[in-house]
Amino acid sequence: MSHLWPNDLMSYSENKFAILFDKQRANQFNIGKTSYKTRIKKLKKLKHALEHTYKQDIRDALYKDFKKPQLEVDLTEIYPVIDEIKYVCSQLKSWLKREQVGTPLAMLGSSSYIINEPKGVCLIISPWNYPINLTFGPLISAIAGGNTVILKPSEMTQNTSSLMARIVSDLFDENEIALVEGEVETSQALLELPFNHIFFTGSPAVGKIVMKAASKHLASVTLELGGKSPTIIDDSANIEKAVSKIIFGKFMNAGQTCIAPDYVLIDEGIKSKFIMSFKKQIDTFFTEQPDSSDAYSRIVNSKHFRRLIDSLEDSKNRNSTIESGGETNQSDNYIEPTLISDLDNESQLMQEEIFGPILPIKTYKTLEEAVEYINSKEKPLALYIYSKNKTNINFILNNTRAGSTCINHNLLQYLNHNLPFGGSNNSGIGKSHGYFGFLEFTNQRSLLKQHTLGAVDLLKPPYTNWKQKIVDLTIKWF
Ligand code: NAD
Repeated sequence: MSHLWPNDLMSYSENKFAILFDKQRANQFNIGKTSYKTRIKKLKKLKHALEHTYKQDIRDALYKDFKKPQLEVDLTEIYPVIDEIKYVCSQLKSWLKREQVGTPLAMLGSSSYIINEPKGVCLIISPWNYPINLTFGPLISAIAGGNTVILKPSEMTQNTSSLMARIVSDLFDENEIALVEGEVETSQALLELPFNHIFFTGSPAVGKIVMKAASKHLASVTLELGGKSPTIIDDSANIEKAVSKIIFGKFMNAGQTCIAPDYVLIDEGIKSKFIMSFKKQIDTFFTEQPDSSDAYSRIVNSKHFRRLIDSLEDSKNRNSTIESGGETNQSDNYIEPTLISDLDNESQLMQEEIFGPILPIKTYKTLEEAVEYINSKEKPLALYIYSKNKTNINFILNNTRAGSTCINHNLLQYLNHNLPFGGSNNSGIGKSHGYFGFLEFTNQRSLLKQHTLGAVDLLKPPYTNWKQKIVDLTIKWF
């Protein structure tokens, strides 16, 4: 099969990608025809590689990239992928079965089915903040669906991306699964190709670029995006526990987590209690010198470090109060876990996704006011509620929209493969994990099979009065 553009219109790399794409396109029906057993074999090969062969290499690469602690690598990069593979392997046989569905009486003589057929040739573009998890996670769903895949990980975590390239080429033929390394231009060149499905994880700004590119070929998209995830704490909440869980969720990966609590919205009567508890507990997590703690990551690069420093500068200029933390070290891209209050709504920290270890705390007088504030912004990827009050919890749930909500904890909703994971509008389109991820990478093809002459066959022209009567009766009774 030849590619779609004349050679002189393409650069060398575009040409290279088009050739790779064509190989996969030519091979897609071979892969699409594979049984659930063959797909499970592939998934188990990947599982073994991550759990055994490359486990230490993964830990080393992520430490080199941004000093990610080993336990966090195991818990947030390796475990979710292994868990997803186990779950998909246990379900795949039933997901691939042709599903018989009902057929209306008016269509008597037919039977109806749904076939989950592969989308075809897929592109997965992943971010740097959980590179293993967010590259291999969607790959599991793509393999389960019977697709060929080109993976493009982030250029910002170079050590991990190169390692993933090695893993993929060790395990798979490139006409089935290939990983392409490179800068933004690489993504842009890949996005020119007529993929059948594009699964993108990253920022809303780049998500819009991806969706625009996909529209050229009407490729379907899954967009796993980001944004500001609010955390509401009402006056019934257990503050000590809430603070402990928020510190865990916010400062894991140095705050570079799409579903980390972005800011706290707290009943004004308990603000000082929260701050006191935060100051008391933060040292037990990371010691008095978090820069020496082996449980604390760094900011991924100097560009993101600068972005965060600028937002701290901006908030200082607006007379905010640093309640805890605030130390930084440019040579190491280090920012201390920081709690900051008295921010005005126009500050960068309250306007943009923070994606770093800075936690703003904002008070509210009434829950209505808190909900109104949240609804004045884009729909969040996650919304967290700390409360023991059922009426308050229901009020928040019924009056806000979000991709996911966790009550009295955070991040955990991500780990349950029975729950769809994703955002809504600005925080994302489509879902991942478990069956929901499998659905993104398959087309639900309708199949209707006629066995005997049906009622519809009696209604061909010429249209007579008795045929009109049958139609009238059908509308009335069936
Ligand atoms: P990003 O959008 O800058 O980059 C993501 C990927 O897109 C990278 O592979 C990059 O090479 C590519 N890219 C960047 N600019 C591009 C362009 N102009 N054209 C084509 N491709 C381009 O995101 P990031 O900085 O890697 O990750 C942080 C963002 O991702 C945050 O907004 C975060 O909330 C979000 N995120 C979301 C999830 C989720 O599951 N919803 C998970 C992790 C991160």
